[in-house]
Amino acid sequence: MPTQLLVLIGLLSAILTLTGCVRAPVTDRLQVSVIPEKIMLPLGRNTYQDMLSGARLVTNGDDVGTLRRVGKRIARVTGEPGYGWRFSLVDDRDTLNAWCLPGGKIAFYTGILPVLQNEAGMAFVMGHEVGHATAHHGAERMSQQLAVLGGLGALYLYMDRKSELTDQQKNLMMGALGVGAQVGFILPFSRKHEKEADIIGLMYMSRAGYPPEESVAVWERMQAQSGGGRVPAFLSTHPSHEQRRANLREWMAQARKRHARNPLSEDTQKTLWR
Ligand SMILES: [Zn+2]
Repeated sequence: MPTQLLVLIGLLSAILTLTGCVRAPVTDRLQVSVIPEKIMLPLGRNTYQDMLSGARLVTNGDDVGTLRRVGKRIARVTGEPGYGWRFSLVDDRDTLNAWCLPGGKIAFYTGILPVLQNEAGMAFVMGHEVGHATAHHGAERMSQQLAVLGGLGALYLYMDRKSELTDQQKNLMMGALGVGAQVGFILPFSRKHEKEADIIGLMYMSRAGYPPEESVAVWERMQAQSGGGRVPAFLSTHPSHEQRRANLREWMAQARKRHARNPLSEDTQKTLWR
């Protein structure tokens, strides 16, 4: 056991020395010890294949056509030409979800379409998910987990030398510390990521020519869905609706300015899904 932990600590320090500081797009937040794209991009590619291997994909028709069009427009404004963008629509009406893996590997489930309702709604959720990827949230989360594991590993080595503790006591302490580290460190940060993804999503959709007001409308429809005791998967880790609306309102004026510079000529708020 201690050997594995030593390896982990070694890996952690290697990553910390290998990576420098980067900034998140739009919010410009400084990020330290992010795992480099060289590692994250192939990881995103492989995970995408795994996650979609058993899925039933929609390969033709208007719905997937709209998804690809929105995706390409959002991709263009991110300034990430190195990403191998992929847009998949999963035929699953029971799943109210969408996600984007590192490197722009995106999946939407048909269950989320009625909540998006129109192309602009899709653009906001697309922007939000892409925002998680371009702001390196996956990499940041992984480096945090490694840091937590590294810290726990060091503590384990220390406790291992304290022979007056029984193995059971040591295990109990490790368990409690692991849970504490998760609740106190990883979860609050995740909410910060959600807020940042909302802001980035709002700016991406506006720059791509979609009316930013639709972002708030999407959340209202999402909230209506969660009323009947059915919490959409998409919301399970997301901030409260009130908080979310407040965040979006705070950034709306800026978003409107970006939208005004380059609005799409077609009506993107026409109902496509209900
Ligand atoms: Zn999110």
